[in-house]
Amino acid sequence: MTERQHTTWGELLRDAVEKPGRLLEAYTAFHNYSFGNALLALEQCIRRNLQPGPLNTYHGWLERKRQVRKGEKGITLCMPMPFKRATQTDGFQDETAEPQTSYAFRFRPYWFVLAQTEGEDTYTPPIPNFDIDTALRALNITRTPFEEMNGNIQGLANGREIAVNPLAALPHKTTFHEIAHIVLGHTTSEKLVDGEQTTRHIREVEAESVALICCETLGLDGAEFCRGYIQQLARLSPRFSHEPARTRNPGQGDSSNPAPRRC
Ligand SMILES: [Zn+2]
Repeated sequence: MTERQHTTWGELLRDAVEKPGRLLEAYTAFHNYSFGNALLALEQCIRRNLQPGPLNTYHGWLERKRQVRKGEKGITLCMPMPFKRATQTDGFQDETAEPQTSYAFRFRPYWFVLAQTEGEDTYTPPIPNFDIDTALRALNITRTPFEEMNGNIQGLANGREIAVNPLAALPHKTTFHEIAHIVLGHTTSEKLVDGEQTTRHIREVEAESVALICCETLGLDGAEFCRGYIQQLARLSPRFSHEPARTRNPGQGDSSNPAPRRC
């Protein structure tokens, strides 16, 4: 490694916190389903032999330029349904008062997993002088199918396995990020005991910094989104910044368990 490369990477890391960045809209593009609904969907996928994956409604998929295949049966989830209820005063119905809107939870088959849809596959152009599969083999890392119901999660790393969301906005950036989690030892069992928030943010900053360096070194898109993510994490971690911490973006794939890493 030459001195010039060190300087360049150092500058990249300085830019990561000083140069404006943007957050990917993909982190918040999907609804975040409750744990109970995610389990319900997973159980139906297993029973119906469907590949688990991101969930959306028929119209939600249309908005993402994907069509639900003809004949596909919807996945049933529990949802709040509004209904009007007449106002009661002292046990008597008040005819003059406006009816109040109440909610009741009902099961409805309005959802479909990615495997039930069709549309154009994301084209991943080859990277000149770099082969991701060779890199994965050399690092003893394998790919597994992405089975998260939350489509906002871009990818995850578990042990020596990575899974990248087929709908990931920047698949190469996510792949580098997940590889970094493994290479940096974030997914090894001895690290699992530490669930402290700041440490988790630092791990995210480390992984995303590797993604930034890889994207820039290989001349790939994504640097401004790496910076946006790093800067958001920096705001959340007092070690990096004096700014007050903000609520974590729900699209960032939070988990109280430090592994697997969902990002
Ligand atoms: Zn991550």
